[in-house]
Amino acid sequence: MIYNIDFLIAAIVILLLILWYFLGQKRAEDLNNQIFLFFAVLGVLDVIAEFFSTYCITSPESGFGIAAVFITTVFYLLQALLPFTFLCYILSMHDNKLVSTKKMLLSGLPTLGLIGLILTNPFTGKLFCFDPSRGYVKGPWYLLMYYNAILHLTFAMLLIMIWRKKLGFQRVKVFLEILVISGGGVIIQLLNPFLLTTGFGVSLGILALFITINNPYANMDSLTGLYNHLYLTRKGNELVTAGRSFHIITVYLYQMKHINKIAGIQGGDFVLRLTARKLGALCGRKAFHITGKRFLILTSSLKEYEYYLDELKKIFDVNIKLNVENKSITIPAIISGILHAEKLGDSGRILEYAEYLESLSPQNGLTEVIQDDHQTMNGFLYNKRVEQYLHTAIAEDLFELYYQPVYSTQEKRFVTLEALSRLHHPELGWIAPDVFIQIAEKNHLIEQITDLQFCRVCRFLKEHGKLMEQLLNVKVNLSSLDLMRTDCSSHFIRIMDKYGIPHEWIQFEITETVATEYNAGLRRVAEEFTAAGIGFCLDDFGSGYANLNTVMRLPFSVIKVDRSLLFDICRDEKRAIFYESVVETFHKMNYHIVSEGVETQEEMEQISSWGVDMIQGYYFSKPLPEKELLELLKKQDNIER
Ligand code: C2E
Ligand code: CA
Ligand code: CA
Repeated sequence: MIYNIDFLIAAIVILLLILWYFLGQKRAEDLNNQIFLFFAVLGVLDVIAEFFSTYCITSPESGFGIAAVFITTVFYLLQALLPFTFLCYILSMHDNKLVSTKKMLLSGLPTLGLIGLILTNPFTGKLFCFDPSRGYVKGPWYLLMYYNAILHLTFAMLLIMIWRKKLGFQRVKVFLEILVISGGGVIIQLLNPFLLTTGFGVSLGILALFITINNPYANMDSLTGLYNHLYLTRKGNELVTAGRSFHIITVYLYQMKHINKIAGIQGGDFVLRLTARKLGALCGRKAFHITGKRFLILTSSLKEYEYYLDELKKIFDVNIKLNVENKSITIPAIISGILHAEKLGDSGRILEYAEYLESLSPQNGLTEVIQDDHQTMNGFLYNKRVEQYLHTAIAEDLFELYYQPVYSTQEKRFVTLEALSRLHHPELGWIAPDVFIQIAEKNHLIEQITDLQFCRVCRFLKEHGKLMEQLLNVKVNLSSLDLMRTDCSSHFIRIMDKYGIPHEWIQFEITETVATEYNAGLRRVAEEFTAAGIGFCLDDFGSGYANLNTVMRLPFSVIKVDRSLLFDICRDEKRAIFYESVVETFHKMNYHIVSEGVETQEEMEQISSWGVDMIQGYYFSKPLPEKELLELLKKQDNIER
């Protein structure tokens, strides 16, 4: 029987090709890839050593003598090391850092013993020897080589199964595939020593890693050629685990939507590629493209961090105009700097913080630099605590509901209420509703809050149905996510019916921004609500950029004019004229008008003279808890009788 070296040749070709592609690509320089490279090089050396060793073994007549012993010893050494390196690979992936020397020594004890045996083998012949007459002869302890491989692979399999959650589904799947492939190679060769399949199994295992976890393209953003989010997560987590300090700068091109509109998608792509090129030229491999609009720079040098910040300001100076698809455009950006980003824990947190910093910018068409400091960090941590508390508050229904009465200028009494949520934190105190509502919207928790509060309104009305003899309706705020539910109208109608609340008792408020953005989808929902007798109110008119044309197609009967339009109307003539004409125009279109945020008598008199129908503001009443509201309305009822 002669040795079949075809498998070995195939293994060498596969491994050399992998190394060729891997080294030729711009690849991620993280621990995972470094270990992979080490693994692949070791694999190549192993198969090459096996190839030459087999050549010596099969040609005893060629008289290689010492060279044959030497190359076969090297081959045995590599064979002993390979299963151990795979084990270290798993340990490193689990801890996100190189295995400590202590752990390595501990888990490497069997391998160390085997290495000792291999190194002393030329004198003992326990594993193999070269007999002048018979050539290569297996020693009595020859099988130890196989046992060592099987022992390590079994141990690796156990660890993979125990750590499957932390390693993640994709890695576990790949690792198990590798174990099966390379274990299969070992077992085939154990059963038939003339089929040299061990090295072949190793090469297939490394190939599996190359096309999955260590695929150089997986870390690259295909549009810009920069590193992507996946790599940032790996690199960030690795640096944090290693206790290394690093600094982050994110570049957020917040007007990409606008750029896409004027320059088309191709123009938008061009801008992203150009930005990537400029960032690449400035910071080389430290630049990432994280999401469509967001780039990131990661550096461990403070000097570099400051230099990059200065240079980025110049790159995104709004005075620089670009010619994109024959249109001259500027690319304003929000540049956020985070010093010692490792303090945030992981890359997910870092990006959340960057987003928080970006949210502090007015996004008014200029390029702005926002740097992390104590105050911004405290604001971020406050929001995080609120986010955490929202989960508890939802689970335990800890929200409260206040009602702000709305005054009718004609009837001179309160005619409707707005239900407003309140949340008290045991340590942070009262949390501003705009703050927790925004956080709830971002975390997709708002639907649950709306449901809890809507049931609360229904319960309250069911208990105090008599109130509705004085009132037209109760206004309830809906968020965009509430409206995006597929069963939106039937869902809220079902709740009202469950409590036996007449549909006309409820009027939903939708902000102008939501009404503009979700116009088409909203129309269907609004029609279903209207058919069921439920009213609609346009909230915050004048606070954003409502598209009146689309807004007017929706069945609103009431328009609430935002408090911001009220500013200075008693002194600024232009503002007064604008407010008055808004009232006049909407009246002509048969809408009822509520003025929001009226605080002073002066404001109240001024807008009343313009014929505003209703007034909601501290001047008449702040939002009140149930008990106080009931007292106020009872007083009003008594006066009227
Ligand atoms: P909004 O819907 O515009 O509600 C009116 C806000 O103006 C309320 O703030 C109210 O307290 C405040 N306000 C009323 N009169 C005056 C005044 O004279 N001066 C001043 N400075 N403010 C006045 P609040 O309760 O803090 O709520 C803020 C925002 O949070 C609300 O604005 C609404 O967008 C949102 N919100 C509150 N509760 C809920 C809720 O249950 N669901 C949803 N989706 N949003 C809610
Ligand atoms: Ca409202
Ligand atoms: Ca409002």
